[in-house]
Amino acid sequence: MNITEISRFAKIKGLGLVGTGDFTHPKWFSELANELTEDSDTSLYCSKAHPESPVRYMLTAEVCTIYPVDGKSKKIHHVIFTPSLETAAQISDRLEKHGSLDADGRPILDMTSPQLVEEIMQVSDQNEVIPAHIWTPWFSLFGAFSGFDTIEDCYQDMTRHIHALETGLSSDPPMNWRLSSLDRFTLISNSDCHSHWPWRIGREANVLELDRLTYTEVLDTIRKKDPERFKFTIETNPAYGKYHWTGHRKCNVSLPPQEAKKYGNHCPVCGRKLTRGVDQRIEELADRPADYVPENPIGYKRLLPLSEIITAVVGVSYQGAKKVWSIYNPLIAKFGDEYTVLIDASKEEMSKIVDSRIAEAIIRVREEKAKVIPGYDGVYGQLALFEEKQEDSAPSKPKQKSMADFM
Ligand SMILES: [Zn+2]
Ligand SMILES: [Zn+2]
Repeated sequence: MNITEISRFAKIKGLGLVGTGDFTHPKWFSELANELTEDSDTSLYCSKAHPESPVRYMLTAEVCTIYPVDGKSKKIHHVIFTPSLETAAQISDRLEKHGSLDADGRPILDMTSPQLVEEIMQVSDQNEVIPAHIWTPWFSLFGAFSGFDTIEDCYQDMTRHIHALETGLSSDPPMNWRLSSLDRFTLISNSDCHSHWPWRIGREANVLELDRLTYTEVLDTIRKKDPERFKFTIETNPAYGKYHWTGHRKCNVSLPPQEAKKYGNHCPVCGRKLTRGVDQRIEELADRPADYVPENPIGYKRLLPLSEIITAVVGVSYQGAKKVWSIYNPLIAKFGDEYTVLIDASKEEMSKIVDSRIAEAIIRVREEKAKVIPGYDGVYGQLALFEEKQEDSAPSKPKQKSMADFM
Protein backbone atom coordinates (compact mmCIF):
# COMPACT_ATOMS: atom_id res chain seq x y z
CA MET A 1 0.00 0.00 0.00
CA ASN A 2 1.06 3.59 -0.51
CA ILE A 3 -0.10 6.85 1.06
CA THR A 4 -2.58 7.59 -1.74
CA GLU A 5 -4.19 4.15 -1.34
CA ILE A 6 -4.29 4.38 2.46
CA SER A 7 -5.82 7.88 2.30
CA ARG A 8 -8.46 6.71 -0.15
CA PHE A 9 -9.45 3.71 1.93
CA ALA A 10 -9.26 5.52 5.28
CA LYS A 11 -11.80 8.04 4.00
CA ILE A 12 -14.12 5.26 2.80
CA LYS A 13 -13.78 3.63 6.20
CA GLY A 14 -14.50 6.88 8.07
CA LEU A 15 -11.09 7.30 9.70
CA GLY A 16 -9.74 10.80 10.37
CA LEU A 17 -6.34 9.76 11.72
CA VAL A 18 -4.20 6.82 10.67
CA GLY A 19 -0.88 5.54 12.01
CA THR A 20 1.80 5.38 9.32
CA GLY A 21 3.20 2.16 10.80
CA ASP A 22 6.73 0.93 10.14
CA PHE A 23 8.53 4.32 10.17
CA THR A 24 11.68 2.43 11.24
CA HIS A 25 11.91 0.80 7.80
CA PRO A 26 14.29 2.94 5.67
CA LYS A 27 12.34 2.54 2.41
CA TRP A 28 8.96 3.28 3.97
CA PHE A 29 10.49 6.20 5.88
CA SER A 30 11.76 7.85 2.71
CA GLU A 31 8.35 7.29 1.10
CA LEU A 32 6.73 8.98 4.11
CA ALA A 33 9.21 11.86 3.91
CA ASN A 34 8.39 12.30 0.21
CA GLU A 35 4.62 11.82 0.37
CA LEU A 36 3.69 13.57 3.61
CA THR A 37 3.81 17.15 4.78
CA GLU A 38 3.14 18.46 8.27
CA ASP A 39 -0.37 19.81 8.80
CA SER A 40 0.55 23.32 10.07
CA ASP A 41 1.80 22.97 13.65
CA THR A 42 -0.15 19.84 14.66
CA SER A 43 2.72 17.30 14.59
CA LEU A 44 0.42 15.29 12.34
CA TYR A 45 0.87 14.88 8.62
CA CYS A 46 -1.24 15.02 5.47
CA SER A 47 -0.80 13.80 1.91
CA LYS A 48 1.22 16.13 -0.33
CA ALA A 49 -0.40 14.76 -3.47
CA HIS A 50 -3.95 15.06 -2.08
CA PRO A 51 -4.09 18.15 0.15
CA GLU A 52 -7.91 18.03 -0.07
CA SER A 53 -7.98 14.66 1.74
CA PRO A 54 -9.30 14.94 5.34
CA VAL A 55 -7.11 12.03 6.48
CA ARG A 56 -4.25 12.83 8.87
CA TYR A 57 -1.25 10.66 9.72
CA MET A 58 0.60 10.03 12.96
CA LEU A 59 4.12 8.62 12.77
CA THR A 60 3.99 5.15 14.30
CA ALA A 61 6.06 1.99 14.25
CA GLU A 62 6.06 -1.45 15.83
CA VAL A 63 9.20 -3.22 17.01
CA CYS A 64 9.94 -6.61 18.56
CA THR A 65 12.39 -6.98 21.44
CA ILE A 66 13.77 -10.48 22.00
CA TYR A 67 15.87 -11.24 25.07
CA PRO A 68 16.32 -13.96 27.67
CA VAL A 69 15.01 -13.71 31.24
CA ASP A 70 15.84 -16.58 33.62
CA GLY A 71 16.79 -18.77 30.68
CA LYS A 72 13.50 -18.17 28.86
CA SER A 73 13.24 -16.17 25.64
CA LYS A 74 10.94 -13.15 25.93
CA LYS A 75 9.48 -11.84 22.67
CA ILE A 76 7.53 -8.61 23.03
CA HIS A 77 6.00 -6.28 20.44
CA HIS A 78 5.78 -2.56 21.20
CA VAL A 79 4.04 0.27 19.34
CA ILE A 80 5.84 3.63 19.14
CA PHE A 81 4.23 7.07 18.59
CA THR A 82 6.43 10.03 17.70
CA PRO A 83 5.59 13.66 16.82
CA SER A 84 7.74 14.26 13.74
CA LEU A 85 9.82 12.82 10.92
CA GLU A 86 12.87 14.24 12.73
CA THR A 87 12.20 12.40 16.01
CA ALA A 88 11.32 9.28 14.00
CA ALA A 89 14.74 9.43 12.33
CA GLN A 90 16.42 9.90 15.72
CA ILE A 91 14.65 6.82 17.07
CA SER A 92 15.79 4.77 14.08
CA ASP A 93 19.38 5.98 14.57
CA ARG A 94 19.34 4.55 18.07
CA LEU A 95 17.48 1.34 17.30
CA GLU A 96 19.65 0.33 14.37
CA LYS A 97 22.45 -0.35 16.86
CA HIS A 98 20.27 -3.19 18.21
CA GLY A 99 19.10 -4.85 15.02
CA SER A 100 18.62 -4.59 11.29
CA LEU A 101 15.86 -2.10 10.48
CA ASP A 102 15.55 -2.91 6.78
CA ALA A 103 14.95 -6.64 7.24
CA ASP A 104 11.30 -6.22 8.22
CA GLY A 105 8.62 -3.58 8.74
CA ARG A 106 8.62 -4.71 12.35
CA PRO A 107 12.32 -5.05 13.20
CA ILE A 108 13.68 -7.53 15.72
CA LEU A 109 15.81 -5.79 18.35
CA ASP A 110 18.36 -7.33 20.62
CA MET A 111 17.48 -5.26 23.69
CA THR A 112 15.19 -5.49 26.72
CA SER A 113 11.79 -3.80 26.99
CA PRO A 114 12.95 -1.25 29.63
CA GLN A 115 16.04 -0.47 27.51
CA LEU A 116 13.78 0.23 24.53
CA VAL A 117 11.54 2.59 26.51
CA GLU A 118 14.54 4.40 27.98
CA GLU A 119 16.13 5.00 24.55
CA ILE A 120 12.88 6.21 23.02
CA MET A 121 12.00 8.55 25.88
CA GLN A 122 15.52 10.01 25.72
CA VAL A 123 14.80 11.15 22.16
CA SER A 124 11.68 13.08 23.23
CA ASP A 125 9.27 13.08 26.16
CA GLN A 126 6.55 13.46 23.52
CA ASN A 127 7.25 9.92 22.32
CA GLU A 128 5.05 7.12 23.60
CA VAL A 129 5.67 3.38 23.87
CA ILE A 130 2.59 1.17 24.04
CA PRO A 131 2.73 -2.59 24.59
CA ALA A 132 1.22 -4.13 21.44
CA HIS A 133 -1.74 -6.57 21.29
CA ILE A 134 -0.98 -7.55 24.88
CA TRP A 135 -2.68 -10.97 24.94
CA THR A 136 -1.60 -12.68 21.72
CA PRO A 137 0.09 -15.96 22.74
CA TRP A 138 3.27 -15.09 20.89
CA PHE A 139 5.09 -11.76 20.87
CA SER A 140 3.20 -9.94 23.59
CA LEU A 141 3.44 -8.60 27.13
CA PHE A 142 1.04 -11.18 28.63
CA GLY A 143 1.50 -13.80 25.91
CA ALA A 144 1.19 -17.36 27.20
CA PHE A 145 4.31 -18.54 25.34
CA SER A 146 6.88 -15.78 25.67
CA GLY A 147 5.45 -13.01 27.83
CA PHE A 148 5.29 -11.89 31.46
CA ASP A 149 2.68 -12.05 34.24
CA THR A 150 2.79 -8.33 35.12
CA ILE A 151 3.58 -5.07 33.35
CA GLU A 152 6.23 -4.29 35.97
CA ASP A 153 8.01 -7.60 35.29
CA CYS A 154 8.26 -6.55 31.66
CA TYR A 155 9.08 -2.82 31.82
CA GLN A 156 10.57 -2.66 35.33
CA ASP A 157 11.46 0.93 36.35
CA MET A 158 10.39 2.17 32.90
CA THR A 159 6.77 1.18 33.64
CA ARG A 160 6.31 4.80 34.73
CA HIS A 161 6.43 5.81 31.05
CA ILE A 162 3.71 3.33 30.05
CA HIS A 163 0.22 4.88 29.96
CA ALA A 164 -1.74 2.73 27.54
CA LEU A 165 -2.16 -0.86 26.42
CA GLU A 166 -3.19 -2.08 22.99
CA THR A 167 -5.93 -4.68 23.49
CA GLY A 168 -5.40 -6.06 20.00
CA LEU A 169 -7.75 -8.22 17.99
CA SER A 170 -7.43 -11.01 20.57
CA SER A 171 -8.95 -9.14 23.52
CA ASP A 172 -11.57 -6.49 24.24
CA PRO A 173 -12.06 -4.09 27.19
CA PRO A 174 -14.22 -6.43 29.36
CA MET A 175 -11.48 -9.08 29.27
CA ASN A 176 -8.93 -6.50 30.44
CA TRP A 177 -11.21 -5.04 33.13
CA ARG A 178 -10.78 -8.34 34.97
CA LEU A 179 -7.25 -7.40 36.06
CA SER A 180 -7.29 -4.66 38.70
CA SER A 181 -3.59 -4.07 38.00
CA LEU A 182 -4.56 -2.68 34.57
CA ASP A 183 -6.99 -0.06 35.93
CA ARG A 184 -4.65 2.88 35.54
CA PHE A 185 -3.91 2.17 31.86
CA THR A 186 -5.85 3.46 28.86
CA LEU A 187 -7.04 0.65 26.61
CA ILE A 188 -6.60 1.47 22.95
CA SER A 189 -7.54 -0.48 19.83
CA ASN A 190 -5.59 -0.47 16.59
CA SER A 191 -5.83 -2.69 13.56
CA ASP A 192 -2.19 -3.69 13.37
CA CYS A 193 -2.54 -3.70 9.59
CA HIS A 194 0.80 -4.72 8.10
CA SER A 195 -0.76 -6.42 5.09
CA HIS A 196 -1.37 -4.95 1.67
CA TRP A 197 -5.12 -5.58 1.80
CA PRO A 198 -6.65 -2.14 2.27
CA TRP A 199 -9.84 -3.54 3.83
CA ARG A 200 -7.81 -4.58 6.86
CA ILE A 201 -7.48 -0.91 7.82
CA GLY A 202 -9.75 0.17 10.66
CA ARG A 203 -10.95 -3.23 11.81
CA GLU A 204 -10.39 -1.71 15.23
CA ALA A 205 -10.21 2.00 16.04
CA ASN A 206 -10.31 4.66 18.76
CA VAL A 207 -13.03 7.31 18.73
CA LEU A 208 -11.82 10.62 20.17
CA GLU A 209 -13.64 13.95 20.38
CA LEU A 210 -11.05 16.72 20.35
CA ASP A 211 -11.21 20.52 20.14
CA ARG A 212 -8.41 20.34 17.64
CA LEU A 213 -6.83 17.30 16.02
CA THR A 214 -3.17 17.52 17.04
CA TYR A 215 -0.56 15.01 18.17
CA THR A 216 -0.43 16.65 21.60
CA GLU A 217 -4.21 16.42 22.07
CA VAL A 218 -4.27 12.75 21.09
CA LEU A 219 -1.32 11.94 23.34
CA ASP A 220 -2.75 13.92 26.26
CA THR A 221 -6.13 12.16 25.94
CA ILE A 222 -4.44 8.77 26.00
CA ARG A 223 -2.03 9.62 28.82
CA LYS A 224 -4.80 11.03 31.02
CA LYS A 225 -7.35 8.33 30.11
CA ASP A 226 -9.79 11.20 29.69
CA PRO A 227 -13.38 9.96 29.22
CA GLU A 228 -14.48 13.45 28.12
CA ARG A 229 -12.34 13.16 25.00
CA PHE A 230 -11.91 9.39 24.60
CA LYS A 231 -15.43 8.33 23.60
CA PHE A 232 -15.14 4.62 22.80
CA THR A 233 -13.14 1.98 20.99
CA ILE A 234 -14.25 -0.12 18.05
CA GLU A 235 -13.56 -3.81 18.63
CA THR A 236 -13.89 -6.98 16.63
CA ASN A 237 -15.12 -9.95 18.63
CA PRO A 238 -12.02 -11.53 20.21
CA ALA A 239 -13.57 -14.98 19.71
CA TYR A 240 -12.44 -14.74 16.04
CA GLY A 241 -8.85 -15.03 17.20
CA LYS A 242 -6.95 -18.20 16.34
CA TYR A 243 -6.17 -18.75 20.01
CA HIS A 244 -9.29 -17.65 21.87
CA TRP A 245 -10.25 -20.91 23.52
CA THR A 246 -7.99 -23.71 24.69
CA GLY A 247 -7.89 -26.75 22.45
CA HIS A 248 -6.28 -29.39 20.28
CA ARG A 249 -6.71 -28.84 16.57
CA LYS A 250 -6.01 -32.42 15.43
CA CYS A 251 -8.79 -33.80 17.62
CA ASN A 252 -11.24 -30.93 16.95
CA VAL A 253 -11.29 -30.22 20.68
CA SER A 254 -12.08 -26.67 21.76
CA LEU A 255 -12.79 -25.75 25.38
CA PRO A 256 -13.59 -22.66 27.46
CA PRO A 257 -11.23 -22.15 30.43
CA GLN A 258 -13.35 -23.92 33.08
CA GLU A 259 -13.80 -26.98 30.86
CA ALA A 260 -10.11 -27.17 30.00
CA LYS A 261 -9.30 -27.07 33.71
CA LYS A 262 -11.70 -29.97 34.32
CA TYR A 263 -9.63 -32.09 31.94
CA GLY A 264 -6.40 -31.02 33.64
CA ASN A 265 -5.50 -29.06 30.47
CA HIS A 266 -5.07 -32.31 28.58
CA CYS A 267 -6.95 -33.28 25.44
CA PRO A 268 -9.94 -35.48 26.40
CA VAL A 269 -9.52 -37.38 23.10
CA CYS A 270 -5.79 -38.09 22.81
CA GLY A 271 -4.39 -37.02 26.18
CA ARG A 272 -1.89 -34.54 24.73
CA LYS A 273 -1.35 -31.20 26.47
CA LEU A 274 -3.85 -28.61 25.18
CA THR A 275 -2.78 -25.33 23.57
CA ARG A 276 -3.74 -22.60 25.99
CA GLY A 277 -6.03 -19.91 24.61
CA VAL A 278 -6.20 -16.19 25.43
CA ASP A 279 -9.37 -16.67 27.50
CA GLN A 280 -7.61 -19.12 29.78
CA ARG A 281 -4.53 -16.90 30.05
CA ILE A 282 -6.77 -14.05 31.24
CA GLU A 283 -8.54 -16.42 33.64
CA GLU A 284 -5.13 -17.29 35.14
CA LEU A 285 -4.12 -13.67 35.74
CA ALA A 286 -7.54 -12.16 36.54
CA ASP A 287 -8.53 -11.13 40.06
CA ARG A 288 -12.11 -10.21 39.10
CA PRO A 289 -15.07 -12.18 37.71
CA ALA A 290 -15.86 -12.28 33.98
CA ASP A 291 -18.79 -9.85 34.22
CA TYR A 292 -16.91 -7.15 36.14
CA VAL A 293 -17.53 -3.59 34.91
CA PRO A 294 -15.42 -0.72 36.33
CA GLU A 295 -16.88 2.67 37.27
CA ASN A 296 -17.18 5.11 34.34
CA PRO A 297 -15.37 2.95 31.83
CA ILE A 298 -14.47 4.19 28.37
CA GLY A 299 -17.04 2.39 26.24
CA TYR A 300 -16.65 0.11 23.27
CA LYS A 301 -18.62 -1.14 20.28
CA ARG A 302 -18.23 -4.59 18.79
CA LEU A 303 -18.33 -4.40 15.02
CA LEU A 304 -17.12 -6.35 12.02
CA PRO A 305 -15.69 -5.01 8.77
CA LEU A 306 -18.52 -4.43 6.28
CA SER A 307 -16.69 -6.39 3.59
CA GLU A 308 -16.53 -9.36 5.95
CA ILE A 309 -20.27 -9.22 6.65
CA ILE A 310 -21.07 -9.03 2.94
CA THR A 311 -18.63 -11.86 2.16
CA ALA A 312 -20.39 -14.07 4.70
CA VAL A 313 -23.89 -13.27 3.42
CA VAL A 314 -23.19 -13.75 -0.29
CA GLY A 315 -21.18 -16.87 0.46
CA VAL A 316 -17.97 -16.16 -1.45
CA SER A 317 -14.63 -17.16 0.03
CA TYR A 318 -12.61 -14.10 -0.91
CA GLN A 319 -13.18 -10.58 0.45
CA GLY A 320 -11.69 -9.04 -2.67
CA ALA A 321 -14.42 -10.63 -4.84
CA LYS A 322 -16.17 -8.24 -7.28
CA LYS A 323 -19.55 -9.32 -5.96
CA VAL A 324 -18.63 -8.08 -2.47
CA TRP A 325 -17.60 -4.64 -3.69
CA SER A 326 -20.66 -4.29 -5.94
CA ILE A 327 -22.68 -4.31 -2.70
CA TYR A 328 -20.14 -2.42 -0.59
CA ASN A 329 -19.68 0.59 -2.87
CA PRO A 330 -23.35 1.68 -3.17
CA LEU A 331 -23.67 1.58 0.64
CA ILE A 332 -20.64 3.87 1.01
CA ALA A 333 -21.94 6.16 -1.74
CA LYS A 334 -25.26 6.55 0.09
CA PHE A 335 -24.12 6.82 3.71
CA GLY A 336 -20.70 8.45 3.30
CA ASP A 337 -18.41 5.96 5.02
CA GLU A 338 -18.29 2.44 6.43
CA TYR A 339 -18.59 3.28 10.14
CA THR A 340 -21.78 5.23 9.43
CA VAL A 341 -23.19 2.15 7.67
CA LEU A 342 -22.15 -0.14 10.53
CA ILE A 343 -23.23 2.12 13.41
CA ASP A 344 -26.01 4.45 12.22
CA ALA A 345 -27.71 3.47 8.94
CA SER A 346 -31.30 2.23 9.37
CA LYS A 347 -32.43 -1.11 8.01
CA GLU A 348 -35.13 0.56 5.91
CA GLU A 349 -32.71 2.97 4.24
CA MET A 350 -30.17 0.21 3.57
CA SER A 351 -32.82 -2.14 2.17
CA LYS A 352 -33.63 0.42 -0.52
CA ILE A 353 -30.26 -0.17 -2.18
CA VAL A 354 -29.10 -3.65 -1.12
CA ASP A 355 -30.63 -7.07 -0.50
CA SER A 356 -32.54 -7.04 2.78
CA ARG A 357 -30.43 -9.97 4.02
CA ILE A 358 -27.37 -7.71 3.87
CA ALA A 359 -29.21 -5.00 5.79
CA GLU A 360 -30.42 -7.58 8.32
CA ALA A 361 -26.87 -8.93 8.78
CA ILE A 362 -25.46 -5.43 9.41
CA ILE A 363 -28.12 -4.82 12.06
CA ARG A 364 -27.47 -8.21 13.68
CA VAL A 365 -23.76 -7.42 13.98
CA ARG A 366 -24.54 -3.96 15.38
CA GLU A 367 -26.88 -5.45 18.00
CA GLU A 368 -24.34 -8.18 18.79
CA LYS A 369 -26.78 -10.90 17.78
CA ALA A 370 -24.43 -12.66 15.40
CA LYS A 371 -22.88 -15.73 16.96
CA VAL A 372 -19.17 -16.44 16.83
CA ILE A 373 -17.80 -19.95 17.23
CA PRO A 374 -14.53 -19.29 19.09
CA GLY A 375 -11.17 -19.97 17.49
CA TYR A 376 -8.69 -22.37 19.15
CA ASP A 377 -5.23 -23.89 18.64
CA GLY A 378 -4.55 -22.00 15.39
CA VAL A 379 -8.10 -22.34 13.98
CA TYR A 380 -9.86 -19.02 13.33
CA GLY A 381 -13.22 -18.33 14.96
CA GLN A 382 -16.23 -18.55 12.69
CA LEU A 383 -19.07 -16.16 12.12
CA ALA A 384 -22.57 -17.62 12.29
CA LEU A 385 -24.54 -14.55 11.22
CA PHE A 386 -28.07 -15.85 11.33
CA GLU A 387 -27.71 -18.43 14.05
CA GLU A 388 -29.30 -17.43 17.35
CA LYS A 389 -26.72 -16.51 19.94
CA GLN A 390 -26.93 -18.73 23.00
CA GLU A 391 -24.59 -18.14 25.88
CA ASP A 392 -22.71 -21.08 27.35
CA SER A 393 -23.97 -23.61 24.84
CA ALA A 394 -20.68 -24.18 23.12
CA PRO A 395 -19.98 -27.71 22.00
CA SER A 396 -16.77 -29.26 23.28
CA LYS A 397 -16.14 -30.91 19.91
CA PRO A 398 -17.12 -28.41 17.22
CA LYS A 399 -17.52 -29.81 13.74
CA GLN A 400 -15.59 -27.57 11.42
CA LYS A 401 -17.92 -26.25 8.78
CA SER A 402 -17.50 -23.74 6.06
CA MET A 403 -19.05 -20.30 6.46
CA ALA A 404 -21.73 -21.23 3.93
CA ASP A 405 -23.15 -23.87 6.26
CA PHE A 406 -24.36 -21.15 8.57
CA MET A 407 -26.26 -19.14 5.98
ZN1 LIG B 1 2.72 -7.10 16.60
ZN1 LIG C 1 -6.11 -34.40 21.09
